[in-house]
Amino acid sequence: MGSSDASQARNIHQYPQHSQEKLALQAEIEPAVQGAESGSPPEAETIQQLEQALLKTRKRFDSFISAAGHELRTPLTTIKGNAQLALRRLEKLRRKVGQQEQIDASALGADLERLQQPLDYIVYRVNEQDKMISDLLDVSRVQSGKISIVMRPCNLVQIVQNAVQNMHEMNRVIDLTVPEEESQIAIHADPERVEQALNALLSNAMKYSMPDRPVKVLLTIEEREASRMAQVQVQDYGTGIPADELDNIWDISYRVKGIEVQDGSSVGLGLGLFLFRALIERQQGAIGVHSVPGEGSLFWFTLPLAQQES
Ligand code: ADP
Repeated sequence: MGSSDASQARNIHQYPQHSQEKLALQAEIEPAVQGAESGSPPEAETIQQLEQALLKTRKRFDSFISAAGHELRTPLTTIKGNAQLALRRLEKLRRKVGQQEQIDASALGADLERLQQPLDYIVYRVNEQDKMISDLLDVSRVQSGKISIVMRPCNLVQIVQNAVQNMHEMNRVIDLTVPEEESQIAIHADPERVEQALNALLSNAMKYSMPDRPVKVLLTIEEREASRMAQVQVQDYGTGIPADELDNIWDISYRVKGIEVQDGSSVGLGLGLFLFRALIERQQGAIGVHSVPGEGSLFWFTLPLAQQES
């Protein structure tokens, strides 16, 4: 990235504590809360404001349920179609083998390959749906304060390498840079939860940039105000995000209008960044984003190094 045009939106955001939506909702219910605290009966206007705030929340919830239902059903259509296709191909193969006394090995190989394709697709779509359901359950655990995070000594280099390695199966170029001298960056965290958080960034980087664009992952040690933190950056060269949307993207099911999926994958439930933020913050980490519309985005997180723990 990197442009010197001062008029261009260049945004560095850290710790957006309240989204605009939450602030608006708080402002709306504030008079009612104050009224209730002082013991005075609520004014008609206050009741009306409360009703409007509730209606807005309800609308948001309804649209999430309808989008989630749609997204969860989409893989089922492909799963069903491919299962039927595999069954038809299997039946055809069975008849063919039954009719032939001599089996032609190369023809059989090609038929088996044709059988493999829909089965692979089924597994891919089942995994996709499984991931959406896990995210949904994790969001509910975060909100009820019951998300399980088991902190222990672990190696961030290994976690990042695993995550990048798993994403390579998606046929995308992901450049990983780790500090030359460090094969081990000891952190005190939950390795599965850190990998889950990083996966959310990696899949967004791939989703919101064209398949021929690389994704860069950079692992560094940051010195800040006498403390040392490990930092992971995920850089994409995709759509970028407008400055006035950077506070909102961490909300459940918030999608930036006008930003479309670029790589043909499904849109998902809109829970990735909410979970990313919750998982990192619950491990004493910090998060942030730097984005230039039309050029790309850089999401990052830091985690405290293990030796700083007492
Ligand atoms: P989802 O991607 O499933 O919609 P997320 O919570 O992961 O949900 O992201 C919220 C929104 O933030 C996305 O819908 C998209 O509009 C925007 N966004 C997230 N990551 C990126 C990115 N790397 N580039 C551009 N837009 C992004």
